[in-house]
Amino acid sequence: MASANRLIGLTGGIGTGKTTVSNYLAEKHNLPVLDADVYARQAVAQNSSILQTILARYGDRVKLPDNSLNRSALGEIIFNDPIEKQWLESQIHPFVRERFTQELQCAKSDTIVLAIPLLFEAHLTDMVTEIWVVSCDRASQMARLQQRNGLTSQQAQARIDNQLPLSEKAALADVVLNNDADLKYLYAQVDLALTQI
Ligand code: ATP
Repeated sequence: MASANRLIGLTGGIGTGKTTVSNYLAEKHNLPVLDADVYARQAVAQNSSILQTILARYGDRVKLPDNSLNRSALGEIIFNDPIEKQWLESQIHPFVRERFTQELQCAKSDTIVLAIPLLFEAHLTDMVTEIWVVSCDRASQMARLQQRNGLTSQQAQARIDNQLPLSEKAALADVVLNNDADLKYLYAQVDLALTQI
């Protein structure tokens, strides 16, 4: 069984600063971070049964020449089609949950961070004891997303709108980390949140 007392579910909107916070928690506070994105990639690794199921559904348009998944092609399909998005998530989310369960069983720390961008959407809130949402204003979110991912304003907008609204996530949080300003401001809130709850 997991021995941790604090299981911090770290989430937020796309590009709001989740990775920035999880890196800080790992590096500055030496906390173990379990990352849902890593498990989601494992779910569709080459030769995995989930990848075969995805290729069977969408065919060559989501396949790279080396037979691995063309993630951006799949991304385009699901960003434009809620039914397909739901189907894909029904394939991947149970795998991600199972991987968290496995890792938590052998984790030794009293506090563990579960970095889960889709914490709410994937119904994983029962896996954590507290929820932290990294939030920022829409203008910062758009700017950071466009700059980092080389997206047009329209593409960035579509990705933000594809998620549960940030305000709804913040309303469900135990801790809201405001990332509207500089990193010093963000990190001070993280330090404080660790001493609370
Ligand atoms: P994604 O959902 O896309 O994985 P994320 O929520 O993990 O994103 P980060 O990768 O941490 O977000 O941050 C998004 C981008 O914004 C990164 O390029 C990061 O360096 C930058 N960034 C984060 N916080 C700040 C800040 N306070 N000031 C300036 N830039 C920031």
